[in-house]
Amino acid sequence: MNKYALERFKHLVKINLNFWYAFVILVILTTPVMAQNMGIIDPRKNLTPSTTITWRYSDNVSEACNAERQKIGEPAFQSPSRACSFWTKSTCLIITNRDTLPESLAHEVLHCFQGKWH
Ligand SMILES: [Zn+2]
Repeated sequence: MNKYALERFKHLVKINLNFWYAFVILVILTTPVMAQNMGIIDPRKNLTPSTTITWRYSDNVSEACNAERQKIGEPAFQSPSRACSFWTKSTCLIITNRDTLPESLAHEVLHCFQGKWH
């Protein structure tokens, strides 16, 4: 490989690496948003127009959520939870971690009003 070809090869490798860095950063930046994308919310689908929400936080959300599930006879979640909610027509319990995202809280509040909305 002559000097010109070597420089061209290095340049192409650099461009390719920059592309992959940009791709990885894009995936990292968009993944949480996509995971929390709730789409359009239709209040006509509400199970109830009002509810009393209790918001609890835990250092171990999965453990706290599974303990609540056990109380109501539901099996434990198969994957770790960032938040969970338990609702009736008039009450709702939301459990999050201490540093939850607003989108996570909104997701659970929608469960309080619409039940299994997703
Ligand atoms: Zn959900």
